[in-house]
Amino acid sequence: MTRTAKAIVAAAPGGPEVLQLQDVDIPEPGPGQLLVKVAATGVNFIETYERSGTYKVAFPYTPGSEAAGTVVALGPGVDGSAGVGEGDRVAFSEGLRTYAEYALVPAEAALPVPDGISDEVAAAIPLQGMTAHYLVNSTFVVGPEHTVLTHAGAGGVGLILTQLIKAKGGRVITTVSSDDKAELARAAGADEVLRYRGFPDRVRELTNGTGVDVVYDGVGRDTFDGSLACLRKRGMMVLFGGASGQVPPFDLQRLNAGGSLFVTRPKLADHLLTPKERRWRSADLFDAVLAGTLDIRIGASYPLAEAARAHEDLQARRTTGKLLLIP
Ligand code: NDP
Repeated sequence: MTRTAKAIVAAAPGGPEVLQLQDVDIPEPGPGQLLVKVAATGVNFIETYERSGTYKVAFPYTPGSEAAGTVVALGPGVDGSAGVGEGDRVAFSEGLRTYAEYALVPAEAALPVPDGISDEVAAAIPLQGMTAHYLVNSTFVVGPEHTVLTHAGAGGVGLILTQLIKAKGGRVITTVSSDDKAELARAAGADEVLRYRGFPDRVRELTNGTGVDVVYDGVGRDTFDGSLACLRKRGMMVLFGGASGQVPPFDLQRLNAGGSLFVTRPKLADHLLTPKERRWRSADLFDAVLAGTLDIRIGASYPLAEAARAHEDLQARRTTGKLLLIP
């Protein structure tokens, strides 16, 4: 007998309204996979790029790679040696089709959730948290001598980035679009909170004309040129997303004119290459939450059936912190 459960399915690319709740077969875990009963699913910007067709995916499409929940079945070859077995609570950013009551994840990508971390917080950490972690620990290693510019300082990645940079002693300048968001960014520890309009001039003033050591830019098209103009000589431009749209092709000669600048376009998957690397990043984050030095803000939780509303809110800049779907 086929067992079914609820999942969000989009039949074809389009606006948020293509995300529809449907009955689907509960997936069978394949070799090396775990089946997880999802307690909370993380909503991330990449799913809007995929849903709309900006990033190519196969349709019908169930979005989502991040969730927390309980392992309910092990696929062939999974023997618990990766530290997780049936009944364990796990969180992950590398799952499949997580906008659903049940989702699959490779056993090696399942992160055991420590006691004391709720399912909601566990679901909020892997993708945005490990992104902020690699940005400040691997892409450009931030220290007390650095001044950093970030954008969308009240967003999911933004709030975590600021806290991680402050914990390393760096100085944070960030941009936001409203007073409420400014308050949140300040509460997370940002030293200077700016509006987008004219931000490059303000950043130059705040750094006595020198510019910042690094920009972490997840807004993309609308901020990229301004971000480059904020860098000190030999500074690094880290373009990690395109919430406002993708950055058009770029003339490398601009790096020369800007002062021997560096530019990089990293992604999370390339920073979770081994079980050891995943455990390092996730343990740092879980430990910081348990120690009370990292606050994970859940901006809003939506019933799974309202995934479309979550996408609308995210793209309309109405959200702060992490968005979750609750099956
Ligand atoms: P956020 O919670 O930061 O939401 C996006 C924010 O971007 C908005 O709230 C808004 O903040 C700002 N923004 C500026 N311009 C626009 C616009 N035109 N439309 C919508 N939003 C805009 O999202 P996430 O934390 O989930 O993701 C932030 C970025 O990080 C995204 O670009 C995402 O793709 C990227 N990312 C990249 C990863 C990687 O490894 N490369 C991994 C994870 C995320 P405000 O109103 O204050 O301007």
